[in-house]
Amino acid sequence: MTEDGKELMFDHGAPFFTVTDNGVMDLVREWEQRGFVAEWKEKFGSFDYATSKFGEAEKGKFGSLDYATAKFGGADKEESIKKYVGTPGMNSICKSLCNEPGVEPKFGVTVANVQWLEEKKSWSLIDLNGQALGHFDGLVASHNSIVNLWPSTGRKSPLDLASFPELAAKLQNIPAIPRFALMLAFPEHLSSIPVKGFSFKNSEVLSWAYCDSSKPGRSTSSECWVLHSTADYARSIISQTGLQKKPSNVLLTEVAEEMLKEFLRIDNHVPKPFFTRAHRWGGAFPATAVAEDDKCLWDTSKKLAICGDFCVSPNVEGAVVSGVAAAAKFSLLSRV
Ligand SMILES: Cc1cc2nc3c(=O)[nH]c(=O)nc-3n(C[C@H](O)[C@H](O)[C@H](O)COP(=O)(O)OP(=O)(O)OC[C@H]3O[C@@H](n4cnc5c(N)ncnc54)[C@H](O)[C@@H]3O)c2cc1C
Repeated sequence: MTEDGKELMFDHGAPFFTVTDNGVMDLVREWEQRGFVAEWKEKFGSFDYATSKFGEAEKGKFGSLDYATAKFGGADKEESIKKYVGTPGMNSICKSLCNEPGVEPKFGVTVANVQWLEEKKSWSLIDLNGQALGHFDGLVASHNSIVNLWPSTGRKSPLDLASFPELAAKLQNIPAIPRFALMLAFPEHLSSIPVKGFSFKNSEVLSWAYCDSSKPGRSTSSECWVLHSTADYARSIISQTGLQKKPSNVLLTEVAEEMLKEFLRIDNHVPKPFFTRAHRWGGAFPATAVAEDDKCLWDTSKKLAICGDFCVSPNVEGAVVSGVAAAAKFSLLSRV
């Protein structure tokens, strides 16, 4: 929301996703038919600060995922890789899946503690205020903060892995790659930029830029862009401030100014935005995969599945593959 009450929408995390796995493709086609996913068919490219010129999309540098580029292999030209987005926002995918029969979503609740009750053969969940959230036959933990791998919240991890030595060994050390994202809204179309998504060459600050308002299903009343910093830039800022606390508004304003200054270097025709807001992603991408073969971690005796991108690959597709693998573990149990 801007100061004068204008509502703006940004995908400040994943700008889009790609699919190489046939099973995930089947799901994505179904989501397309149901109307909450669409292909983003815009032109992508790159911008080189050394020559001040736009060029072709860089091969092997696709999306803002430096680590994951190998996983996007296969296609000869970046242009031929289909890019998908949730509509009207990336979060539409999760929102729509919450409406599936049998799903009872609870929003705004942080699970602070999970405990296996041996005598009841069930999981007990407690929220941050100490309120009981109920007892459950099985547990799916879909974020690695369940075992506090990243110190980004400063909170104690909800699950004590002491009773799961095999899982603990796999989850011990998952390095994370950080990013800053900058959301920008312009009063007019950026006509000097010939593409709707591009990587930056020869920039220490910026890695990618995406025109959010060019995605299917978005409002076009303002020209909205999201910039992603390089991992090194994010690391240099985080090394000064630490990850423990939420970044202050002063820090986020400084980051926003630096990232915007770099963006405006593209040329003199880029107008000043009327809205800027930076966001820190302390652990944007897990830099390793802990369950490449099994796709999720699983404990049969306590019906515990741990899944997420950190199990397979640091992208939406990896998260879907891992979630589907966790669901399959429970389906197998119900057939026994
Ligand atoms: C800046 C950025 C750019 C990206 N670019 C791309 C890209 O171009 N293409 C691509 O495919 N992917 C991209 N990604 C990666 C993609 O967003 C992730 O891989 C994907 O979202 C991971 O999904 P997940 O379900 O594993 O985890 P998450 O999306 O992190 O979901 C885990 C959920 O668990 C919740 N949670 C955690 N702990 C608790 C708790 N204690 N109690 C209650 N809830 C909890 C969290 O709030 C979160 O909603 C990008 C990510 C970032 C940050």
